[in-house]
Amino acid sequence: MAEIHELPDILANQIAAGEVIERPASVVKELVENAIDAHAGQIDVLIEEAGVQSIRVIDNGDGIASDQVAKAFLRHATSKISNRHDLFRVHSLGFRGEALPSIASVADVTLETAIAGASEGTLIHFRGGELIEQTGTSARQGTDITVRDIFFNTPARLKYLKSQTTELSKIVDVLNRLSFSHPKVAFRLSHNGREVLRTTGNGNLQQVIAAVYGINQAREMVAITGQDNDFKVTGLMSLPELTRANRSYISILINGRYIKNYPLANALIKGYGTRLMVGRFPIAVLSIEMDPLLVDVNVHPQKHEVRLSKEHQLTTLIEQIVRDRFAKTNLIPNAYANY
Ligand code: ADP
Ligand code: MG
Repeated sequence: MAEIHELPDILANQIAAGEVIERPASVVKELVENAIDAHAGQIDVLIEEAGVQSIRVIDNGDGIASDQVAKAFLRHATSKISNRHDLFRVHSLGFRGEALPSIASVADVTLETAIAGASEGTLIHFRGGELIEQTGTSARQGTDITVRDIFFNTPARLKYLKSQTTELSKIVDVLNRLSFSHPKVAFRLSHNGREVLRTTGNGNLQQVIAAVYGINQAREMVAITGQDNDFKVTGLMSLPELTRANRSYISILINGRYIKNYPLANALIKGYGTRLMVGRFPIAVLSIEMDPLLVDVNVHPQKHEVRLSKEHQLTTLIEQIVRDRFAKTNLIPNAYANY
């Protein structure tokens, strides 16, 4: 047998990229989450050829100080947690410090960034994990990152990608859910120069839903809210007349993070009782706030799945809130003035 040796960083990053970066939509998710974590109020996402050619994310967030920029591309390097205690109280979307090094190892990445008050910004360019250059650039506060030629050096990954239509729809889905969880952020998504999504960032969830699913759909939704000792649930759900043929129009957000959780979505559906026709599902956005100690987000590299400590209690609460909402007389859609 060969001797045991540590893998070079580039190779280790490519292996990690296999878990974190499945497709262009995963890049979009990681980059936009970074922008949100950096307190951006405006995030522009510009996609060319379904992200296979390029993905550009521009934010007006905190930026990265010049002496920190190269560190952001080191494996397991993060500004978001520092000890075990933090790991169980994660408030940011990111914390694993894997996205940038992973993306840079399987693509061509140029990042320009500046912090408030800096006299100069920093430009850094990586290709296939190799540092190509680092120089000064404009001092515009925020970060502007472009990812080109995804998977150029991992042909098997590139081949595995689906049609542009499918890859684009996955990107749109990522942006939709992120706009639901962050109605105070103004998002813009364009594909090949054509605008696909725009939200205003005024904090009104119903207007975000209108931007994503359409004004008529948003008008057919009602607000729900309720809480117990551990959980606070708020959101909007469709009237039973407005349904879809699958569950993908149900968005569950836990502490501002979109997650996939069958039992929680099911609790919502059960709350409708017999009001839903068989095989029909509501449109809903449920935002759940809880002590971070009750949710483990560190079970899945892409953090789509989480482990909940009191899941049964939460499903009972959700079902109850939905049922109570229907019990109220005069179920009038949440009318609101202007889009
Ligand atoms: P993580 O988000 O898990 O910390 P990343 O690899 O995604 O890891 O990013 C590494 C670090 O780079 C972040 O912790 C953050 O300090 C910095 N960073 C990345 N993107 C941005 C951004 N858009 N604005 C400001 N800082 C950023
Ligand atoms: Mg990140």
